[in-house]
This record gives sequence, C-alpha cells and structure tokens, in this order.
Amino acid sequence: MDDILRTAPAGFLSFSDDGSILLANDRLLERVGYAREELTGRHLETILSSGGRIFYHTHFFPLLKMQGRVDEIYFSLKSKAGEEIPVLMNGIRLERDGRTVNDCVFMRIQQRHRYEDEILRARKTAEAANAAKSRFLSMMSHDLRTPLTAISGFADVLLMGMQGPINEAQRQDLLDIKKASKQMMTLINDILGFAQLQAGRVEVKIDPVVVPEALARAESLMRLQLVEKGLTYERHDCETEATVMADPERLQQVLLNLLTNAMKFTPPGGTVTIRCNREPGRFFIRVADNGIGIAADRIPEIFDPFVQVHDATAHATGSGVGLGLSISRDLVRAMGGDLTVTSQIGKGSVFSIELPT
Ligand code: ADP
Repeated sequence: MDDILRTAPAGFLSFSDDGSILLANDRLLERVGYAREELTGRHLETILSSGGRIFYHTHFFPLLKMQGRVDEIYFSLKSKAGEEIPVLMNGIRLERDGRTVNDCVFMRIQQRHRYEDEILRARKTAEAANAAKSRFLSMMSHDLRTPLTAISGFADVLLMGMQGPINEAQRQDLLDIKKASKQMMTLINDILGFAQLQAGRVEVKIDPVVVPEALARAESLMRLQLVEKGLTYERHDCETEATVMADPERLQQVLLNLLTNAMKFTPPGGTVTIRCNREPGRFFIRVADNGIGIAADRIPEIFDPFVQVHDATAHATGSGVGLGLSISRDLVRAMGGDLTVTSQIGKGSVFSIELPT
C-alpha cells in the first residue's frame, strides 16, 4: 500500500471473496482500534457490528458481487472496544495480482447523524408551533363570533323598532353597524376556515353536483351586488346536464369567493363571465373578469395565505384578509381538482376551477 493511501483521510480496506482482510490503512486501524497484524488475515466480521454482519451477508456482499460496485452504503463497524461506528461506504470489486479483491473506503458519519437529528428536532418544534397557531386561531375565531352575533342581533332588534321608534339618522347608523359586523364575520369565518384546513380538520363529502344548479345558487346570492356595482354578468357553455364530483357546500364557497373577488377587482361598467368547458374526465368552471388584473410576477403569490397584491385603499381589499384564494385552492384540491389563474394587468383575470367528472 503506498503512503498516500495509508494515511488518506478515509478508512480503506481490501478483502478477498472468503471475507479475509488483506489490507487496511492507518485511518481504518485507528478507527477500529486494532493493530495491523491483529486484523490481517482475520474475517471482515471481526470489525462489523451485529447489524453490519447481517447487512454484509444479505445485501452488501451479494450486491458487490453482482454489480461489481456499491455506492453510499450506510453501515456500522464495531471497534475493538465494542463501540459502534456509523460509516458511509463505497466498494469496488477488481482483479489485482491475479486474484479477485474487494476494495472499500469508509467515511465516518457521526456529524451527519447529529445534523439529521437536529433537523428532525427542528421540524418537530415547527410542527408543534404550527398546530398551536391553528388551535389559537380556531379558538379565537370561535370566541369572537359569539359577541359579534349578539352585536348584529341587537342592531336588528333596534332596527325593527322593538325598543321604540328610531329616527332616520339612527337607522343609518344601525345599518352601518350591521354592515361592519357582516364584514367582520366574513373575516372571522375566513380565519376559522383557514385554521381548520391547516389543522387537517376539513373533510370533503364528494357527491355528483349539477353545475348549472350550483351556479344558479351562487348567482342568486351575487345578483344584487353585481347590479349595485354596475357590472354585467354572463354565463356561457354550462349545459344543463353537466355534473362534477365535488362537495356541494365547499364548491359553493369557492364559487362565491371567486365571484366576490371578480366583483371587487373590476371597476363599474365591467363584465364578470362564467364559462364551462368539458375535457375527458375533467370539467372546468372559469370565472373571468375584465378588471384590474394581476401583475405577472405577483401571480405565484396570490394563493399564499394572507397575501393581497393590490393597494388596500384603492381597491376595497380591506374587506378581506387575503385568505380566500388560499382556502379555495385547498378545498378544490381536497376535492381532487385544482384552482389556477391566468391574468394580465389592466386586462383582467381568469380563475379556473378544475374538477373530476
Ligand atoms: P382577499 O380577497 O381577502 O384579499 P384572496 O385570497 O381572495 O384575498 O385574494 C388575494 C389577492 O389576490 C387579492 O387581495 C387581490 O390582490 C388578488 N386577486 C384575487 N382575485 C382577483 C381578481 N379577480 N382580480 C385581480 N386581483 C385579484
């Protein structure tokens, strides 16, 4: 063995097919704590842990014989003092001086084990923190909903004149209270929905859903707002018998979210259009608008939670917290589909719900 190999910073060992150790370099001897003459001629098993021995017979040697080489094998050696030494090993089988020999190099992987442990620990901590966050969000939203329902309910009581007559200014104020509580309820529900999705507590119940019926339901809820905002609404190519496999309530939630966004980001005079399109096994419901659109470099972000890409004051984004699309995409994916978008700034956006048929 030449000097370089003898002192190289990796263990080297050569053994014959009957398992006898032919050569070992200084680094390996140092690791396992044997003198050269103690190991030469001994069986390789001398320096293998019990797991390493089994692995040697069932995998390592058969593989080396069959393929002529093995790479990146995790193995454990055993020192003379009985200590297990995890190593990463490469082996190669070749002819030298007229006989078949198996040459192996070993790198110690103590450090790597430590890194892996650290990564695992960090991941567990992160998961626990995430679960705590979801629990907090879901508790908080529950606790906020109760007093909010009371605020809105008592405003109704006053509006109905149940505590005596009210004047016009008071009526306007009460309507403002109602409007603000409705907006706040939407925010709280978004946060609650998001927390439930994060905690994996949302189950979808898949049933055949007749698309035009689902659309009609969503349209009836949006019609008034479309008119109030001066928008035209159109629906194309959604044949009467078109069905998809979906959770009807969740699909409704997604449709309302997309329609609300289309309205929110389209100036008066614009048009919101729904188009259907069938492909083998898949069905697409596309919600399009000719509103302000989304800049190409921001498109990948909009499905991230709590992301709003437009200036809140200019576009009434204040009525949301940037959770709608994140929730919608998670829901559509849970139904075996996907939610995607194409958009051009100043021209408008098209959100596509893809669902199995
Ligand atoms: P929110 O509506 O509560 O802000 P969403 O998750 O529904 O949250 O939407 C995230 C962001 O994506 C919006 O704030 C807006 O910037 C952008 N966006 C969504 N829909 C549209 C649309 N139809 N046209 C333009 N921008 C949109």
